[in-house]
Amino acid sequence: SFDPDMFKGILDKWPTRKAPYALLTRAFVLVNLTRSRIKIVDTLVNLLRTLIRLDPESLLAAVWLTTNDIGPTYENNELGLGISIISKALTGSSGTTTATLKKLFNKHGDMGDVAFEAKVKQKALMMKKPIPLTIKNVYTTLVKIASMSGKGSQENKQRHVERLLVDAKGEEVRYLTRTLTQHLRIGAVKTTMIIALSRAFSLSAPDGANWECPTMPKSKEARQELFGKAEEVLKQCFARRPNYNDIIPSLLKGGIGVMETECGMAIHVPLKPMLGSITRDLAEMLMKLHGTSFSCEFKYDGQRAQIHCDSNGKVSIFSRNLELMTSKYPDLVELIPRIRGDGVQSFVMEGEIVAIDINTGQIKSFQILAERERRNVDVGNIRVDVCLFAFDLMYLNGQELLLRPFRERRGLMHSMFVEIPTKFVWVRSLDATSEDVDAIREFFRSSLETKCEGIMVKVLDNCTKPLMSKPEEVIEEGVEGNLVSVAMKGRDKEKAKLAGGRRKALLATYEPDKRLESWLKVKKDYDSAADTLDLVPIGGWHGLGRKSKWWSPILLAVRNPETGTFEAVCKCMSGFTDKYYAEMKDFYNDDGGSGENINTSRHKKAYYEASLCPAIWFEPKEVWEIAFADITLSPTYSAAMGLVSEDRGLSLRFPRFLRKREDKGIEEASTPQFLAGIPSSLILRPWFFGPLANES
Ligand code: ATP
Repeated sequence: SFDPDMFKGILDKWPTRKAPYALLTRAFVLVNLTRSRIKIVDTLVNLLRTLIRLDPESLLAAVWLTTNDIGPTYENNELGLGISIISKALTGSSGTTTATLKKLFNKHGDMGDVAFEAKVKQKALMMKKPIPLTIKNVYTTLVKIASMSGKGSQENKQRHVERLLVDAKGEEVRYLTRTLTQHLRIGAVKTTMIIALSRAFSLSAPDGANWECPTMPKSKEARQELFGKAEEVLKQCFARRPNYNDIIPSLLKGGIGVMETECGMAIHVPLKPMLGSITRDLAEMLMKLHGTSFSCEFKYDGQRAQIHCDSNGKVSIFSRNLELMTSKYPDLVELIPRIRGDGVQSFVMEGEIVAIDINTGQIKSFQILAERERRNVDVGNIRVDVCLFAFDLMYLNGQELLLRPFRERRGLMHSMFVEIPTKFVWVRSLDATSEDVDAIREFFRSSLETKCEGIMVKVLDNCTKPLMSKPEEVIEEGVEGNLVSVAMKGRDKEKAKLAGGRRKALLATYEPDKRLESWLKVKKDYDSAADTLDLVPIGGWHGLGRKSKWWSPILLAVRNPETGTFEAVCKCMSGFTDKYYAEMKDFYNDDGGSGENINTSRHKKAYYEASLCPAIWFEPKEVWEIAFADITLSPTYSAAMGLVSEDRGLSLRFPRFLRKREDKGIEEASTPQFLAGIPSSLILRPWFFGPLANES
């Protein structure tokens, strides 16, 4: 529901049509007051509609600021503001002494709260007259700050921050400072923003626009369907073109209706990668894909790469996380003219970059690949040779190939590009059906012998027939869109739908940002647990004995995308090398509570859910891949509470550190839903209540 009064007090006082920063801050405060996703979406929709109508020019800036970014991941959007610059600017703008700031930091543990209190206590002697902040002005200043580098840039940045802080009032100070430290703390607005935008643009158009919003249907169901469609369209656009700088102008120009045609893939803009679903073993994979033709591929253990090349030969290489890593692989860039066959002008291709011995062609481990510098690698002095194992082609000569079936995309890739042994080759693959059990088992075995992690299995052709493990039980089937509805024996059709009788058809299309059943992963060590987890380290204890110099154990958490909170799941003290312990201690060093190190704090974050209290809390900065023996119910850890048991969370037995995931941001950490969905031998037994994991 649109509540025009939500921001009334603020807009009434505003004399011009430039949207005030206070409007955005008010929305942040409202979002922070609730945990209800519906209320969060409503608040954002109201904010966006207000801007669409009153000041569409500020919409883009507002969207970036709300999502805690100033630009897409693949462009430089680091503000580069250490705690010391912010402290100095605060001292300058509020007259508070450094000693008082330190005291406040010890009390709050959050720079936003520190700044807020410092300004409240502000000395009356103001040197500069405050000018009310606008959304656009705050945003453009941040962009300016991010672009400053070289000599004198630190002082320059500090001056800009100080000016912003002088002009900020009340809650603006708190949220502005949180934005400056790039931790806005307003829950999961990143995922919610697309939903809010799709609704706002289904309901409002800018004044004088030459397009109109759809007429709102009277019935609730029809309205929900309309919103659902708009959301799906915008999600798909964002997955292909994850950049608000492109999305927002198109929306303002033509509304949701033009998005599919206006905002498709673009060269040098990475699309969000398609993801694979987990299976326990080959048997489960075969059951799921029964009745289809599929390709089994080696699952190489390297770094996923999306390679873009335009018709002028300019190359960009992006990571799984959509970060630009062209300067890490200049050797690959040099190779591109040689792999392009006749007739290839522009393309987007995907593959796995793997460390390799170029003399023997033998694959090396991921750890060796990790030794390559992360940027500005000198092509004349390459220490770790790599090979690209290409597996998909998503764009060719100005045309998107996403909707073509995998067999066709792969065929085009093989026919239009040229392999170069040990440098650029196709992934090893075996085309099969579920009849070919022996050949598939043999292929899986050889993948492990070749130092691969297992296999990826991909459906080759679109398949709109329901695939059931017991076809004799199906009494009725039909296809609606990409859903197959199946009625089973002994259940009426409606009930069957509710019981999961409707399932996605297996399309062999490339579906950015989706984890569907048409790409399955079968990994080698699935016997011990269904998968590894990607967890965020949130705190540490002082080690004992040999480990007394380091942090051990480490408290790990899953991230709840609904609330933006981190839910503690286990302590981990195995799998770390001494070198890693030392690096960890450097990164998360204890500054004695002075606030010098922005990676640690003596205070628990408001968005951490943990009953244990480590000696030091970490900022959520990294994602670690963790293996484990099993999952167990726990009275100590709150992860996934309410999903499996009402009063117990989930924890891991024998968690073991495998590696740091350089290619994943904290937003891609495992979720409570994912954790709760992993089959476990322990939680499936209702009588099992102990021993509990690692809870010493
Ligand atoms: P996900 O990417 O599915 O979130 P993840 O990053 O933890 O999970 P895995 O579960 O190990 O990774 O498997 C998917 C990854 O496997 C891909 O992102 C890609 O980097 C890698 N990979 C290796 N070989 C292939 C292949 N033949 N096809 C697709 N991906 C492959």
